[in-house]
Amino acid sequence: MQHKTIIEPFRIKSVEPISVGTEAERAQCLKDAHYNPFLLRSDNVVIDFMTDSGTSAMSARQWAGMMEGDEAYAGSRSWERMEREVRDLTSMQHILPTHQGRAAERIIYGHLGGPGKIFISNTHFDTTRANIEFSGATAIDIPIAENKDTALQHPFKGNMDIGELDRLLKEHKGNVGAVILTVTNNSGGGQPMSMANAEGIAAICNRHGVLFLLDCCRIAENSWFIKHREKDMEGLSYREIAQRMFALADGAVMSAKKDALVNMGGFLALKDDTLAEACINLLIITEGFATYGGLAGRDMEAIAIGLQEIFDPHYLDYRIKSTLFLGKKMHDLGVPLMLPIGGHAVYVDAKKLYPHIPPHEYPGQALVGELYVLGGIRTVEIGSVMFGTYNAEGTLQPAPMELVRLAIPRRVYTQSHIEYVVETFEEIMKRRSRIRGLRITKEPKFLRHFTAHFEPLS
Ligand SMILES: *Cc1c(COP(=O)(O)O)cnc(C)c1O
Repeated sequence: MQHKTIIEPFRIKSVEPISVGTEAERAQCLKDAHYNPFLLRSDNVVIDFMTDSGTSAMSARQWAGMMEGDEAYAGSRSWERMEREVRDLTSMQHILPTHQGRAAERIIYGHLGGPGKIFISNTHFDTTRANIEFSGATAIDIPIAENKDTALQHPFKGNMDIGELDRLLKEHKGNVGAVILTVTNNSGGGQPMSMANAEGIAAICNRHGVLFLLDCCRIAENSWFIKHREKDMEGLSYREIAQRMFALADGAVMSAKKDALVNMGGFLALKDDTLAEACINLLIITEGFATYGGLAGRDMEAIAIGLQEIFDPHYLDYRIKSTLFLGKKMHDLGVPLMLPIGGHAVYVDAKKLYPHIPPHEYPGQALVGELYVLGGIRTVEIGSVMFGTYNAEGTLQPAPMELVRLAIPRRVYTQSHIEYVVETFEEIMKRRSRIRGLRITKEPKFLRHFTAHFEPLS
């Protein structure tokens, strides 16, 4: 028989209690956190959808692997396992272990960047952009035009605009640091990209002699979409699809906190010997020796195992379909969403949910607060708080979209948790016309969403 119910393809061996407080308590917690979810205590959160990064539940096999971790400073057996696994997946010669994705970014973009340099991506993730801009270089986002229309259906809405890429590479000839394909497009609605798009980018980069990098932390989830949506791809396994995409690139930056199913870790993979040598020098200065980087032996062991588990077809099918389950229920309630639903998160279009709140009053941040007070659900704004900038006159230049991301940790929550979230959205929809925006009272220069303070507008 063909079952309609998608079950979690695992059973639970170890549990962690969730404390459920009251709405009044949460209203006070939010005020104490200056209306910034990053300043909340996790003990006061019921369902934590802030991020899928580093929040995965590890498997019994991964925990067992951790006991086998070889903590040798040099030439660790665990490093050999991780290196073998990453090399087999990426077909890249040089693998540099780092403590998380942004450490790999700091190394590669610190080396390739600097004033006058240009980086081009479908959409730079926030830490990617920050590392590039911190070096003095410029980051340009060129998602396909369809990406900006949240309601539009497109199978690969995370794709890069290839025509625009060609134009930019001509315009900035000699100054391009790298072209970066973010797989899946996290800041652009978690949308996947096609193999055809990656092939097109690789061909153009080749022609212009420009480095092509993958920001690959959700490449397994992206492979699910390719297998089920792209012509001639259904015959390949998820792993073969990922391998084919890696083969197109010159290098890859990975946050293992996503698809490698671990709580901490990352790597940089490179083909070119000279580039790798320069990066290994930076790795040793800032992260650690080349056979552990920023990682303990046990972490490397868990990454090696996680990279195998992530391509399990039962797991990937459950992962994508359970995200879809939440998205579909919210869509049925009339919640305006980024469509189609991506692999790791559901994104609410807060501009459409609260059309009476202008971007400079941060409609997304208002929804983040509502979700927390009503249901203890922690989410994150991906809009003008995260990506807004000020012009010379000090006026806010809003981000292209005002999204709120419900990122789903891997293997952590069950269907009843998801149904609780849906129920909270029923209430959100009833109150939508009464909700007010916020203003920022304090902010840093880089990555302001992490530490900014807000005040509700009365
Ligand atoms: C999480 C993430 C990063 C940064 O990785 P960290 O491990 O959080 O430092 C980079 N790019 C993308 C697309 C990400 O999702």
